[in-house]
Amino acid sequence: MTYRSMVTEGGRVLAAAGVPEAELDAWYLLEYLRKERGERSDRQWYLLNREDEARAEEEKAYQELIERRAKRIPLQQITGEQEFMGLSFWVNEHVLIPRQDTETLVEEAMGKVKSGDQVLDMCTGSGCILLSLLKLVPGLTGTGVDISGEALKVAVENGKRLQTEASFLESDLFEKVEGSFGLIVSNPPYIASEEIPTLMEEVRDHEPIGALDGSADGLEFYRRLVREGKEHVKPGGWMLFEIGCTQAEAVMEFLKNGGFLDVYVKKDLAGLERVVGGRRPKQEERNDV
Ligand code: GLN
Repeated sequence: MTYRSMVTEGGRVLAAAGVPEAELDAWYLLEYLRKERGERSDRQWYLLNREDEARAEEEKAYQELIERRAKRIPLQQITGEQEFMGLSFWVNEHVLIPRQDTETLVEEAMGKVKSGDQVLDMCTGSGCILLSLLKLVPGLTGTGVDISGEALKVAVENGKRLQTEASFLESDLFEKVEGSFGLIVSNPPYIASEEIPTLMEEVRDHEPIGALDGSADGLEFYRRLVREGKEHVKPGGWMLFEIGCTQAEAVMEFLKNGGFLDVYVKKDLAGLERVVGGRRPKQEERNDV
């Protein structure tokens, strides 16, 4: 079979399984297969060689990849990789796959820190938020926290691959966290429990439920993050969250009630409310002392 027929046939199988953007994924899986074997896999190679016969062994391996994707396993869990903030992150089934939406949070965070600051990333998952901050802002130090030991293994490995000095801690939110930070950033689980069954199969059946389920109203982690985390923000420092697009008002209220100032919301590139943040008062701004 030629490479072109393989990709066409692969795309058909994926489309029949209900995979969105089936043809594109069929191509990505061929690219991944060849790259894994150290062979040319770029678009130009494909365009020039697509009428060549694939090796029988290649064809078999490709079909296996297509079968896995047809089971709605996310492409990134098959290739083990997702790009985020221009960096490559290793992912598996124990971590949420980094989303483009979350880049808005990193961009906001970049504007709130300076060299020498310490950052805490709560619910770090793959480590994508913390590690991109450490890569992109010189002179930061940081800690990533997660309740899942399996997720932390992924974060630690990503930290090594990206040659960062991040540290990681297994803890149920702030339980084991000590000290205070110039910035606390978090993309916690925020989907309301009853909405979980309505998610895409890839997400619902293959991404970790613990990274998605934000309790009955989806807001429980924000309540706890503000309540348990505010003392861990240095005076004058920031707390920044990614939120679901209907949650801004509620989360801003939690921050205001927690004594935070300059509470604001930032939209993502799609125009949806995506990031909420607030600043802990400096000593001289506090009226309760
Ligand atoms: N911090 C990780 C991310 O943004 C994981 C978030 C989560 O598991 N809820 O991708």
